[in-house]
Amino acid sequence: MENKKVYTFGNGKAEGNSEMKNLLGGKGANLAEMNLIGVPVPPGFTITTEVCTDYYTYGQEKVKEMLTKDVNAAIHNIEKLTGTKFNDAENPLLLSVRSGARASMPGMMDTILNLGLNDEIVEGLSKKTNNPKFAWDSYRRFIQMYGDVVMEMKPINKEDHDPFEEILDQVKEEKGIKLDSEFTVEDLKDIVGRFKKIVRERTGKDFPTDGYDQLWGGIFAVFGSWMNERAILYRQMEKIPDSWGTAVNIQAMVFGNMGSNSATGVCFSRNAATGENLFNGEYLVDAQGEDVVAGIRTPQEITLEGSRRWAKLAGVSEKDRAAKFPSLEEVMPIVYKELDDIQFKLEDHYRDMQDMEFTIQNGKLWILQTRNGKRTGAAMVKIAMDLLEEGKIDEKAALKRVDPIKLDELLHPVFDNNSLKTAKVIAKGLPASPGAATGQVVFFPDDAEKWHNDGKKIVLVRQETSPEDLAGMAVAEGILTVRGGMTSHAAVVARGMGKCCVSGVGEIKVNYKNRSFEVDGKTYKEGDFISLNGTNGEVYDGKVETKVAEMDNDFTLLMDLAEKYTRLYVRTNADTPRDAAIARKFGAKGIGLCRTEHMFFEGNKIKAMREMILAENSEDRKKALAKILPYQKEDFKGIFTAMAGLPVTVRLLDPPLHEFVPHDEKGQKEMADQLGVSVEKIKQRVDALQEFNPMLGHRGCRLGNTYQEITEMQTRAILSAAVELKKEGVEVFPEIMVPLVGISHEFEMQEKIIRDTAEKVFHEEGMRVDYKVGTMIEIPRATLTAHKIAKTAEFFSFGTNDLTQLTFGYSRDDIGSFLPTYLRKKILKVDPFMTIDQNGVGQLVRLGVQNGRMEKPDLKCGICGEHGGDPESVKFFHRVGLNYVSCSPFRVPIARLAAAQAAIEDK
Ligand code: PEP
Ligand code: MG
Repeated sequence: MENKKVYTFGNGKAEGNSEMKNLLGGKGANLAEMNLIGVPVPPGFTITTEVCTDYYTYGQEKVKEMLTKDVNAAIHNIEKLTGTKFNDAENPLLLSVRSGARASMPGMMDTILNLGLNDEIVEGLSKKTNNPKFAWDSYRRFIQMYGDVVMEMKPINKEDHDPFEEILDQVKEEKGIKLDSEFTVEDLKDIVGRFKKIVRERTGKDFPTDGYDQLWGGIFAVFGSWMNERAILYRQMEKIPDSWGTAVNIQAMVFGNMGSNSATGVCFSRNAATGENLFNGEYLVDAQGEDVVAGIRTPQEITLEGSRRWAKLAGVSEKDRAAKFPSLEEVMPIVYKELDDIQFKLEDHYRDMQDMEFTIQNGKLWILQTRNGKRTGAAMVKIAMDLLEEGKIDEKAALKRVDPIKLDELLHPVFDNNSLKTAKVIAKGLPASPGAATGQVVFFPDDAEKWHNDGKKIVLVRQETSPEDLAGMAVAEGILTVRGGMTSHAAVVARGMGKCCVSGVGEIKVNYKNRSFEVDGKTYKEGDFISLNGTNGEVYDGKVETKVAEMDNDFTLLMDLAEKYTRLYVRTNADTPRDAAIARKFGAKGIGLCRTEHMFFEGNKIKAMREMILAENSEDRKKALAKILPYQKEDFKGIFTAMAGLPVTVRLLDPPLHEFVPHDEKGQKEMADQLGVSVEKIKQRVDALQEFNPMLGHRGCRLGNTYQEITEMQTRAILSAAVELKKEGVEVFPEIMVPLVGISHEFEMQEKIIRDTAEKVFHEEGMRVDYKVGTMIEIPRATLTAHKIAKTAEFFSFGTNDLTQLTFGYSRDDIGSFLPTYLRKKILKVDPFMTIDQNGVGQLVRLGVQNGRMEKPDLKCGICGEHGGDPESVKFFHRVGLNYVSCSPFRVPIARLAAAQAAIEDK
């Protein structure tokens, strides 16, 4: 409570500077800095973010007591600099009160303008400016804003009207006018009277007349708005801690609504949507800030070029444009020139694209705010690469400027922003796989294929998905599942396919029988259109326009730069040649995880697989497996060829066998007919395979160690494919990976089967290939005994999906039932299946690496769980010394950038 709480600025001097964002908030720090570099800013002061914390700890009275002396002194400083007086009718000073947190939270908190007016002061202002209409218009705006923000006159719900807007409408109707600007002074006086009356009626209090009372009300309202619902939600989305608090910025008002020589606007030093290096923005003559965003009047473009481009798009002729919507460049050329110089100066100073607010009062330009502008993923990449080329930033800074997650926008279809504005959200789930999808609802994978073949775009809606649904998923624009988390089958597969997926949408009730789902009382039938936003988890009613993302030269430049700085390299999780090829295009250095199970579902493979499952003994199993062998071999040839010259880690069969058999009667009947056995027999086998928690049961190396024929067949398929390709001159580096090892002996048994089979294959083929045998580390016990496993294992790949499941004891597929509550109650900060839990699961990874390298100092260690594509997790894996991460193809560029950033941050 002892620290300095109020920092003043004005007239080229400031107590703060841009380094002090934590204390002064982004806006306050930049207001100070602008003063220091000679940019015209209305004088004022900033109350620090620490006071916000005090406000929530000690309450209003105490904070007022602590601050009064400093605030009064700071007000006197403004009075001195402006030659005006606060709370004075002769020569009034009016104030603006604005929030400003460390990280920008646009529009989330409250602002009050024109503070300091009452019935006498408005007359004083009117006389001083000789502009009664301006004075009374400012007064009615002040009551309206202060009433809404401080006195809580805002509409209570959607049906409730804003009482102030209602009065404005009434007066307009009585006077037969349409626009606010048509009000006369008498109208405005009448409105002010009515406003004050409704405040009294609604709140039981009179509108405060003392300037200092108004000021404290405003300061506390801004602190209070830190905890309003939308600010809390925004912080959750942007991962901004609640503890940061907001600063309050109080400044002398400058007025853009003093007539035709005044204006207000917003501008950007580059284009925030495309990144194009072109100054742009909008303004309105004779207006205050909120008019530009309110949408009542059409804002005009700042530059002539922007204005001409706008006119072309809007279908406005050049003559009409120049007459009705001229640019600021044309209307106020001298002020425009000054603004243009300032935007250059600010961008040069901050070395980043600036988003600025300005006001012109009677021909004098004032800058009210500057900040690094928010931008799309495409703009982010282009601006970083352009600034690098212009010599404004160096390579490391350019790499750090791009948020890896934002690269998603460049790789997937995205929604058209205008269409999104009017889209109706009907439900929300987990953003399982990014991108945008619009299509007709279907519920069954075979229907998905049929509809797709008929040329329709479809969204597959499932309770959950299983490997059987793969073909249907592959043709869908997007996938929605009611159950399942970020590592559910649907999520993992969709990410692999680069397909949009929203999972765990619990609000939706699916009725497969009626081919419909219900949400919020509305029923959607098969064929109805819905849209999915895989980037934020929203589900929309009907069609929302999408556009295709494009990769360009700047993206390539960025990736080349990432390559230059990275230590951790990136592989991909890929099960098909197509996915492997995509990942390679994105710069993957091999395959870190090829899940072989996905290969068993196509065509005849599933039939042979089911024969193997039905087999009563080893001989019969071998026979069935012999049928699968040639298919597996072909699959591996395809993948090895796509990754020629690079290592490919193939994992032996992992999932429990029940995933390969049908659970419904229809499916079982089909299987019985296909294999020529009774339905009874199928049912019996399916029942026997049933497990309570299949993820803890007969899977992973437990399969290969109980049915060693499976490991033999898969090894044979992998290595004979490798030998054949070697004979054709293709370079192959197979790595055979054993899943779910918890005991070193489990690995040793598998390794022996693999090595024996390899020798047989090499002997038969008359040629050897280099290959490695390693293991997944995904069971906590394996991390603790890693030194023993490393005696024989040639590499480790951490399976952080299972490791997270087993460390937390959370079932991977059922976390959706309690995760939202856990996040809301802050028991968990983030979904641990999405971002690695550094303090728990992450420590096991660290230990596993240390233990393994104790035995083999240069043991190659990677990670192939879903965390391999999450930037924060990638940085952690860099720090614990992994050699590589492996992630789904569309995440490869994200992981590459995050890895490069980790290397830079390391130094
Ligand atoms: C893991 O467990 O992290 C892993 C990569 O394997 P899967 O997701 O197939 O179990
Ligand atoms: Mg696993």
